[in-house]
Amino acid sequence: MGEESFIDTLTRRQLLRGGLLTGAAALLAGCQQPTRVAQTVPGPLWPDLEKAAEDPPLPPTVRPAPEPNVVFPKPEAAPAGVIPRSRWTTGRVIESRVSSMSGVSRITVHHEGMIFSGSTDPSAIAKRLSNIRSAHINRRPEPFGDIGYHYIIDPAGRIWEGRPLRFQGAHVERKNEHNLGIMVMGNFEQQRPTPAQLASLERFVIDQMKRYQVPVSRLYTHREIGDTLCPGRNLQRWMLAQRSPAGAFARI
Ligand SMILES: [Zn+2]
Repeated sequence: MGEESFIDTLTRRQLLRGGLLTGAAALLAGCQQPTRVAQTVPGPLWPDLEKAAEDPPLPPTVRPAPEPNVVFPKPEAAPAGVIPRSRWTTGRVIESRVSSMSGVSRITVHHEGMIFSGSTDPSAIAKRLSNIRSAHINRRPEPFGDIGYHYIIDPAGRIWEGRPLRFQGAHVERKNEHNLGIMVMGNFEQQRPTPAQLASLERFVIDQMKRYQVPVSRLYTHREIGDTLCPGRNLQRWMLAQRSPAGAFARI
């Protein structure tokens, strides 16, 4: 390889690493991609972004893994108040690519990893979910059997059913067993979740903790069990506060 072509190759690699991906390619990565890769799709930054940058650094994210609960209630249909998947897709789960899940013993919270700056109209959210599902199904080298998350919370605070809970999710590499995955739309390394999202997330997580007897010690964010910045520093900070002794999740 001549020097020039080597430089070309290097430059291409650097560009890719630096985040000059197309929107579609970035979407393909989802929150599984370490979010250290720069966001490339310019979007209006939220007004409190500068303030967020001044917040104190987050504590280390590694958390010990306690023994799981031994009781795994059978999941049923989508919980009340959750928009069923039939409202956004007619696609079926590709069962040859997924495993069944007999119950839940832990919960993991994610962000989407993409800046949210569009319409929160239900039809726009439905389209966004459909695009995420397509990206996950067409993912290479290991395509998913459906959208990776079990539930998604949009910026208006609506909760949408993703992958049916009878199937194991695909949201934390090698740690999906009995793991209920909740994704909050947006990129919270760069944005803040909306008050409506946080209110829904708090209520929904509490409901799921009670329903599946998940203790606060088994309520995670993605970065605590995977190599990623997901769910972004602003949602991470909120999760830490809710799990602290005075927080909503610690009182369950
Ligand atoms: Zn994630």
